[in-house]
Amino acid sequence: MSETILNYIGGEFRPAASKEVIAKLNPATGGILCEAARSGEKDVADAVNAAITAQKKWADTTPVERGEILRNIVILMRERKNEIAQAVHLETGKSMKEALGETGGAVEQGFFMAGEGRRFYGKTTTSAMAERTSMTIRQPVGVAGLIIAANTPIANVAWKVFPALICGNAAVLKPSEDSPMVADVFAEIAAAAGLPAGVLNVVHGFGAEAGAALVSHPGVDLISFTGSTATGKWIAKTSADRLAKVFLELGGKNPMIICDDADMDNAIKWTLLSAFSNAGQRCAAASRIIVFDSIYEKFRGQLMSAAKKLKVGTGDNDDFGPVINKRQLDNMISSVEAAKKDGAAILTGGARLTGADYSDGFFMAPTLLENASPSAEISRKELFGPIACLYRAKDFEAAMNLANDCDYGLTACIHTASVHRALEFTRRIQAGVANVNAGTYGSEPHMPFGGVKLSGNGLREPGTEALDVYTEIKNVNINSIPGLA
Ligand code: NAD
Repeated sequence: MSETILNYIGGEFRPAASKEVIAKLNPATGGILCEAARSGEKDVADAVNAAITAQKKWADTTPVERGEILRNIVILMRERKNEIAQAVHLETGKSMKEALGETGGAVEQGFFMAGEGRRFYGKTTTSAMAERTSMTIRQPVGVAGLIIAANTPIANVAWKVFPALICGNAAVLKPSEDSPMVADVFAEIAAAAGLPAGVLNVVHGFGAEAGAALVSHPGVDLISFTGSTATGKWIAKTSADRLAKVFLELGGKNPMIICDDADMDNAIKWTLLSAFSNAGQRCAAASRIIVFDSIYEKFRGQLMSAAKKLKVGTGDNDDFGPVINKRQLDNMISSVEAAKKDGAAILTGGARLTGADYSDGFFMAPTLLENASPSAEISRKELFGPIACLYRAKDFEAAMNLANDCDYGLTACIHTASVHRALEFTRRIQAGVANVNAGTYGSEPHMPFGGVKLSGNGLREPGTEALDVYTEIKNVNINSIPGLA
């Protein structure tokens, strides 16, 4: 398969002004999958101007009307779910089964946000003054620059585009250079569903070129970003000069605590899913498995043998696929090498998978390590791959200290039969999501997801909390003294 993916600006599909393209490789084979427009400042400026023009009229529609158009988009997405999932499958290497699951989640996200058109609540409040009615209303921020990662490409599009648009903003979406196809199908569906030209624009390209131009453009009022902490910090600094609103969904180094009273089978099942699903390319992936001393040997043995049985490949019976690109794979290998030099021991995996089944794809074996110091780089740096480290803790206090000894704070989970430990954990863990007896899994469409510390900057998405990202709150006061009103 080979095609060239164009930008979508002001309702038209067109190449980058420079006519340059980026080659997108198939992570499962290493061959070229497609090419995408390599956009620069001129393309971004065109897209922002198209958004500025379209936004005023879009904001004048009622939230209910906007919800109806969004619902039409979602219905078309559902009709064309196989086509979307095929794009997810090809550009990420995850199985069709997983890709369809992700597409289904994006559809539900769309329905939830379309429904907000009929809620979109403000609040009324009291006043110290007589005859005064006070309320809040939500207003659009303006033009939203949406920059996303490739790990769950259609989910990432849905998480940002639907709330941005229901709130009356126009958007410029900059998908990851590793996932141009999904965003292209989405743009085509949005156009076919009747979204007015310019309300959603898609500009493809590299982060340092198209992404940076979008962040720096003075016409962009809000930047909503999902990606690495390093890029998020740069975005926060760059947009500070003009005080643009910034929402950051960043990395994680998520802990999973396994207590001595945990249900072992359940804990093993969720540890495997949390560490390895989507090849560990989840901001919520569990990469620090903290196990009570008294059950450490038993847990380690069972986890190792289960990890060795995981199947890596792109089929529906496989547990996970390749990582997204060669750079990512090389980072994984060098991180494991550095960890070994620092004194960590590899329990299983640690290398690229090669051979006929893997062609030249970017496949990494499921990797477990132990004996890494909590201060070693492997214990502190987000890896975003199928790698997890086991740590020992003598008791609950030691486990909590280790879990919170981290620069990130996105998700966390504990396995225990004790209600007391579970509640203590959810209260004390420094994270935006705290789970009990499950995985370090993300949210459902109506739940707020996001992190503390270096994992985010305080806002949440999706759920109704996403409306706080994409609107400004206005306080309205009406003096109804007779004769005046
Ligand atoms: P990345 O920061 O390199 O890239 C993410 C996006 O930002 C891409 O579209 C990229 O082109 C763009 N970008 C890169 N540099 C830019 C710049 N200077 N200006 C503007 N845009 C720029 O991240 P990645 O490696 O592609 O994605 C993995 C990261 O994303 C991990 O850290 C992961 O934890 C994080 N992530 C977080 C969440 C969440 O909800 N918290 C979800 C998914 C992924």
